[in-house]
Amino acid sequence: MLLEQIVKAGVVGCGGAGFPTAVKYQRPAEYFIINAAECEPLLKTDHYIMKRYAKECVEAITTVGKHLQAQHLIIATKAYYRAEIAALQEAIDHQQAPVTIFAMDNFYPAGDEQTMVFEVTGRTVPPSGIPMDVGCVVSNIATMLNVYQAMSNQAVTHKFLTVTGSVARPQVIEVPIGTSFAECLTLAGGATLTDWMYINGGPMMGKVGTMDNFEKEVVTKTTSGIIITEKRDFLYELHESEMPSIIQKARSSCIQCRLCTELCPRYQIGHPIHPHRVMRHLAITEVPEDIDDDPIWQEALLCCACGICEVIACPMGLMPRQVNLYVKQKLAEKGIRYDKIDCKLIPSKLREYQKVPPKNIILKDGLQQYATLKVAEFQKYESREVKIPLTMHIGAPALPVVAVGDLVQVGDLIGAIPDNALGANIHASINGTVTAVGSSITIKGGVAQ
Ligand code: SF4
Ligand code: SF4
Repeated sequence: MLLEQIVKAGVVGCGGAGFPTAVKYQRPAEYFIINAAECEPLLKTDHYIMKRYAKECVEAITTVGKHLQAQHLIIATKAYYRAEIAALQEAIDHQQAPVTIFAMDNFYPAGDEQTMVFEVTGRTVPPSGIPMDVGCVVSNIATMLNVYQAMSNQAVTHKFLTVTGSVARPQVIEVPIGTSFAECLTLAGGATLTDWMYINGGPMMGKVGTMDNFEKEVVTKTTSGIIITEKRDFLYELHESEMPSIIQKARSSCIQCRLCTELCPRYQIGHPIHPHRVMRHLAITEVPEDIDDDPIWQEALLCCACGICEVIACPMGLMPRQVNLYVKQKLAEKGIRYDKIDCKLIPSKLREYQKVPPKNIILKDGLQQYATLKVAEFQKYESREVKIPLTMHIGAPALPVVAVGDLVQVGDLIGAIPDNALGANIHASINGTVTAVGSSITIKGGVAQ
């Protein structure tokens, strides 16, 4: 019943690439861990949910934990989120819920799923494995709010997100899925710069874009924030450099200092990932021709793209993350998957001393002027037009079940999971008329009230 409700409501993981949530809940687990770390600097979306919707989240956690037969129901967050922890604890006490709070240090990437499993349980998820391999299921706190709504048959139609940076009124907003970024920016009072770029997500793992692309962007089920910032060569280059120049610089400047490996959070929990070796391999081979099933290339498949190696570690300004992403893409094109190896997973003894404080990231990214911004809570908004993508999740695109001219209401199914496929249902986020059906479904509001 619970799984059916979650599938029907179209719930996907809010904290990552949008993995369909019900699929994670199909087998019993020892630990049910809630990722409430919100470790990307500047974002306040999960902070808001923890404070405002603690009761709903705790209720959903208890229900899912029971379904999973989990012995440990744990909300993992940062010790310094005091107001958030107080709200969660009050909800736990009030409901006498079998939920505990695990308070982590303030470091990046505390919210990396496998880092979190290691912090909470001391267990290392096997390389290219999933948390279930060590008895854990991990869900994001915002996902729990969607699960709570699914429990009363409400579909995922709206999204909380932070709009901050160089905007007149930084804030957390709630908008219908499919709302344009431009409307979100207007809600935050508009940009305070005339020439800017934006980050879709957090400064470390978000996608950087220019004003030209901004017009095309819409809020999806996984949008967590929009940061408007000055055009910065460092940030822009990190995300948008062309591969030939990245490779050329890696070949000519990598001094094999190993810092990228030492600070890599996946290496630190014991994974056989050594970005410095991938960089060295790059220097002595021809790419992409020579990218094959060599174990060193395959190490790139263990990279979670956190960016520590290039934003914090590398003294030469090189981009091991981009190299790993490139190698990953070439391996995928050649159909090469990670060959699981039987090796002992030994966490780094220095891990505790090498955790990266988020303030270092903000300083390095040149975003320190935004660190002390007060992010207002909050503004709910109903758009007059939404453009809802049929792919906002991992798996097959949803199949449209409406046609141009149909009248729809909030919560109506407009895209369904194809038969026997991994995917997620998609619902109308405003009342109105369907005006276009393609890779997105456009709804114009105001007709079907
Ligand atoms: S981006 Fe760099 S630091 Fe992060 S997991 Fe990949 S190799 Fe490691
Ligand atoms: S940190 Fe930079 S210079 Fe050092 S090994 Fe890694 S890529 Fe090379």
